[in-house]
Amino acid sequence: MLTGKTALVTGSTSGIGLSIARALAAQGCNVMLNGFGDRGEIDKLVEELETQYQVRVMQHPANVMHPNEIYEMVEWTSAQLGPLEILVNNAGIQFTAPVDEFPRDKWDAILATNLSAAFHATHDALPFMKRNGWGRIINTASAHGLVGSVHKAAYVAAKHGLVGLTKVVALETAGTGITCNAICPGWVRTSLVERQIEARAAQGGMDIETAAEQLLAEKQPSRQFVLPEQVAELVVFLCSEAASQITGAAITMDGGWTAQ
Ligand code: NAD
Repeated sequence: MLTGKTALVTGSTSGIGLSIARALAAQGCNVMLNGFGDRGEIDKLVEELETQYQVRVMQHPANVMHPNEIYEMVEWTSAQLGPLEILVNNAGIQFTAPVDEFPRDKWDAILATNLSAAFHATHDALPFMKRNGWGRIINTASAHGLVGSVHKAAYVAAKHGLVGLTKVVALETAGTGITCNAICPGWVRTSLVERQIEARAAQGGMDIETAAEQLLAEKQPSRQFVLPEQVAELVVFLCSEAASQITGAAITMDGGWTAQ
């Protein structure tokens, strides 16, 4: 159990981040949610998690593309819920195009959201963790943190960078009670992937489920989607004392994608 610990999960208003926030709340953490979405829906979510798990849950609307908003969010989390102990850098976006057609503004946005945001949040969170002598930093990387795919220059570059950042933070914090690891999921069926399935269906003139099967068949030998809840359970494990010597790792959960 992680009772009473303070956790911040970026990009937790949907998909993998929401499952991580839910799993941490179920373990007794007080959780700061972050991400975009409808105000009313987010308020309902906060209430639902608080009632279900009897913990404190809040949401901060920081756009993680802006370092000053990240700083405010980390400070506010620590002021409201207690010194930050668990940071999950999870917010992420995708855009696909060949390199020579890749819009420069999309490159900048993906690098800012999927990589630089993790640096800024880690920079701002570490002083709290060092004072406590305990901390967990978990970066949602991707199979694309370890291997490439066509048309994903920015995403693959950012996720490889995130795996590199993870290693440096792990080395700098080794032996201090703080660990830093990256999780590398394969295909997880969230809105980020649903958009890619829809594009494939439209392009190939096929139905959505056929497009989803094709997407899996191309990369993921298990031909099954990873579930957001499975990623969340790995985060919970990495927060446990059993995982205190796991640091600097890039842990795959990809149905065999990167074993090929
Ligand atoms: P998602 O679109 O469901 O969730 C993304 C979350 O990030 C949302 O809460 C969104 O509001 C938030 N977000 C986006 N831009 C933001 C910004 N600038 N500031 C604050 N919040 C922002 O997608 P997901 O699949 O759950 O993605 C979560 C993470 O998992 C991403 O880092 C993604 O790269 C990674 N990932 C996803 C898959 C997959 O197959 N779905 C696989 C590997 C890694």
